[in-house]
Amino acid sequence: MTITVAVSNPTLFSLAVPKPPPDSTGYITILRKKFLKKLETSGGGGGGGGGGAKINAWVDSMRASSPTHKSAASLTETQDQNSWIIHHPSALGMFEQITNASNGKQIVIFMDYDGTLSPIVEDPDRAFMTNEMRDAVRDVAKYFPTAIVSGRCRAKVCNFVRLSELYYAGSHGMDIKGPAKGPKNKKGNQAVLCQPAREFLPMIDEVYKALIEKTKSIPGAKVEHNKFCISVHFRCVDEKKWTVLAEQVRTVLSGYPKLRLTQGRKVLEIRPTIKWDKGNAIEFLLESLGYANAKDVLPVYIGDDRTDEDAFKVLRNRGQGFGILVSKTPKETNASYSLQEPSEVMYFLQRLVEWKRSLL
Ligand SMILES: [Mg+2]
Repeated sequence: MTITVAVSNPTLFSLAVPKPPPDSTGYITILRKKFLKKLETSGGGGGGGGGGAKINAWVDSMRASSPTHKSAASLTETQDQNSWIIHHPSALGMFEQITNASNGKQIVIFMDYDGTLSPIVEDPDRAFMTNEMRDAVRDVAKYFPTAIVSGRCRAKVCNFVRLSELYYAGSHGMDIKGPAKGPKNKKGNQAVLCQPAREFLPMIDEVYKALIEKTKSIPGAKVEHNKFCISVHFRCVDEKKWTVLAEQVRTVLSGYPKLRLTQGRKVLEIRPTIKWDKGNAIEFLLESLGYANAKDVLPVYIGDDRTDEDAFKVLRNRGQGFGILVSKTPKETNASYSLQEPSEVMYFLQRLVEWKRSLL
C-alpha cells in the first residue's frame, strides 16, 4: 500500500485527547500500592521545583517496574494478579473474540519494539529480535498494514527489524515513514510522512552532548540519541547510583523548558514538549491509510511500556480495536488484553496469519 500524505501542518493531527472514563473495577488495589505513579512532568525543564521528591518518585517507579525486584507473591498479590487478568485477559485466550470483531473490517497492526518484539536486555544496542519473530512479523505484514511504533530513533529500529514492507514510527512517533515502494527501492528513498518536531533537532543534539558529559562519571549510564528524543538508560547502573543519575539528568534539563522528561522501564526519556506521542502517531497512520473516520477498521496495538498507553488511550477513545499490554505483572493500563512476553506476541502474530490464511 502506498501513502501519499505530506504533512505541512502537523497541528492538523494534534489531537486534544479527552481522558478515558475511569475503569472503576480492578485497579483499586493496584492503585493503592502505587504500582504505577503519575510522574510525567507537564513540561518545563524536566520538572522545575520539587525536584528531590520527583527524582525519588522516578527511581521508586523504575524499581517497581523492574522484574528483578518482584518479591515472592503473597496472597494479596495473587489476588491482584487474578483480578487483573480478569479485566485484561490474554489476547491468546480472547483470540476468537478479536477475529470475530474484525468481521468486515481491515485489521491494522501496530507494535512497539523493545519489550514487545525483542526482550529487554542490559545493552540496548543488542536488543535483537529473533529470526522466528522476524518471520512472524513479515507474514503478518503480508495480510495487514503493519507499523512499528518505537521510542528509538527510526533508523535504529529499522535496522533491528529489517523489513522494508512495514511502516516505522521512531522517536515516540515523531518520525514516521512508510514502506519502501518496491524491492528495487534503495534504502532511504521512502518519503518522509511526518516529522512534527523537526525544529527541535539542534536542541536535542545539544542536550545529548551535555548529558554525555554530565553522566560520564557514572559507570553503566548510557545516553542514547533517538533523533527527536533522548533516552538515559539505567539498566546497567548500580541501583545505589540511580538517584544521582536522575539528579544529573534533571540538572541538564533545567536549562531547557521546551523539553520534558518522562520515565519508563529503567529509562528516563527526554523529548520535546509538543503534544505528539505514540497515540498521535497511530491516529496519523490510520488517517494516512484512509481510516480517519472509518468504521471498517480494527486497529490492534501491542506494547509493553508507559508510552504505549497513549496509543491504548486512542483506541479506547475511538471505541475501535484493541490494545494489548505485554506484561507479566499487573499494571494500570488502558489496554483491553494482555500477553506475558515477546514469545506470546510471536504466537499471537502467527495465529493471526494462520487464521487469515484459513479464510483465503
Ligand atoms: Mg517497549
